[in-house]
Amino acid sequence: MNPAHNPLTTELQALDSAHFLHPFTDHQGLARKGARIITRADGIYVWDSEGHQILDAMSGLWCVNAGYGRRELAEAGYRQLLELPYYNSFFQTTTEPAVRLAARLSELAPPVGGRRFSHVFFSSSGSESNDTNVRLVRRYWDLMGQPRRKVIISRINAYHGSTLAGASLGGMSGMHAQGDLPLPDITHIQQPYWYGLAEPGESRHDFGLRAARWLEDKILEIGPERVGAFIAEPVQGAGGVIIPPDSYWPEVQRIVDKYGILLIADEVICGFGRLGHWFGYEKFGIRPDLVTFAKGVTSGYQPLGGTLINERIAQVMVEKGGEFTHGYTYSGHPVACAVALANLDILEREDLPGRVRTDTGPYLAQRFGELADHPLVGIAESCGFVAGLALVQDKASRQPFAPELAVGMLCRKHCFDNGLVMRAVGDRMIVAPPLIMDCGQIGEMIALIRLALDRTLADLRERGIA
Ligand code: PMP
Repeated sequence: MNPAHNPLTTELQALDSAHFLHPFTDHQGLARKGARIITRADGIYVWDSEGHQILDAMSGLWCVNAGYGRRELAEAGYRQLLELPYYNSFFQTTTEPAVRLAARLSELAPPVGGRRFSHVFFSSSGSESNDTNVRLVRRYWDLMGQPRRKVIISRINAYHGSTLAGASLGGMSGMHAQGDLPLPDITHIQQPYWYGLAEPGESRHDFGLRAARWLEDKILEIGPERVGAFIAEPVQGAGGVIIPPDSYWPEVQRIVDKYGILLIADEVICGFGRLGHWFGYEKFGIRPDLVTFAKGVTSGYQPLGGTLINERIAQVMVEKGGEFTHGYTYSGHPVACAVALANLDILEREDLPGRVRTDTGPYLAQRFGELADHPLVGIAESCGFVAGLALVQDKASRQPFAPELAVGMLCRKHCFDNGLVMRAVGDRMIVAPPLIMDCGQIGEMIALIRLALDRTLADLRERGIA
C-alpha cells in the first residue's frame, strides 16, 4: 500500500500489527505492508480508511448475499437485542427467533426423494456445522447399529472449515501440513476439475463420470460397511470455483444410494441463492441427507451456521431417543436468528435467487465467459453468482505458469490497485458477487477484471515470461 494519508490508518495499522493475529495470514508480510482497514460499506462497495472505494466482488467472504447497508437487518438485530439479547437452547428451553428460523428453513428447503428436512441444528459458523455433521453421522450410524461406519470421504481442495474436523474434512494440503491432519477416518478423492485434470480430448461428460467413480473406487477400497458419509460442496468454492460437469452429481448420487452412504452437501457458499436456487442441491438434483449452511443465511450480518437434517436422520435421532451430547452456547442465538429471518425476507421479497437464475446469472455467464478471449485466460466459467478463470502460460496446451511466479497473486494485486476485490486460488481468479449486483455493475466488474488481466500481462511481458 502507498504511505497512509489518514492518521487513523497509521494508528490502527500499528495496533493491528502489535496485537491482532489474523486468520490465514503471513504476519511478516503483513507487518511490512500494514493491513487495509475497511471502514464502511454500501450495496456492492466497501471503503477503506484512505477513502478508496472498492467493488467487493467476493461479497466479503462469500457471505453478503443481500449486499451491504441493509437497515432492516440492523433494525431486526437492534429490536431483538432490546427484547432478549441471549438465551440458550440447552436444558429444554428455546427462544422464538430460533424456533421460527428452524421452521422457516425446514419449509424453505425442498424435500428430496419425498423426504423433508424436518430439523435444524444451529451453530455460529460453517466450521462448527461441519464438526456437528461428523458427530451427527457417527451418532446416526451408532443408533442404526452400524458403529463401524465411521469413515467420511471428502475431496482434494474441498473447503469445509478450519476447526480440526473442518480442516480434516477439507482437502487443502497446506492446512493438512500444519498439525498432522486429517484426523483418522477422514479420507479424500480427487476433485471434478475437468479443465485441470481431464485426459487430452476427454469430454466433460466422460470426465464427470470418471471423477464420480473415484468415489466408488474409494468406497470399495475402504469397505462399504466402514463408510458413513460423503461430503462435498455442490460447486467447490475456496478450492477455486470448480464447477462439476453435468454428469458428475447424478453419478455420485447413484453411488451413495447403492452403498447406503449418507450424503452431506456443504452449502455454506452455494446456499441462499448463490447458484440461482435457494440451495445448490436443487440445481444439481442432489438428494443430500445433511446440508451445511452459514454465511448467506444472515448475509454475514450476524455469525450463524447450522445443518439441515433430513427426516432420514432426524427420525432416527428423535425416535430412537437418547441425548445427543453436542451443542454450542450460541446454538440458535436469538439475535443471529432474528437477523436471519429478516435476511430471508429480503431474499424472498426481492427474489434474489430467481434473479440470479434467470437474469443476472446468465448475463454474468456471458460477460465472464468473454474473458476467455484474453491471452492469459485458459477458461472462464460461472455458475449462478460464482465464477472462476484460469490463468495459463499457454492456452493451447493448458500449460500452467510455474507456481513460484505467483501469477494469481500478481493479478490479485492489480485488482486491488484498480479498486476490485477478486480472489486468487493459485492461478485461478474467482469472484462471488453480492446477489444484488445488476447488469450494469456486472459490466463494471468485468471491465475492472479485464484491466487487471491487461496489467498482469504487461508485467509478465516486461519480465519476459508471457
Ligand atoms: N464450508 C464451506 C464450503 C466454506 O466455504 C466455508 C468458509 N469459506 C466453511 C465451510 C467454513 O465456514 P466458517 O468460516 O464460517 O467456519
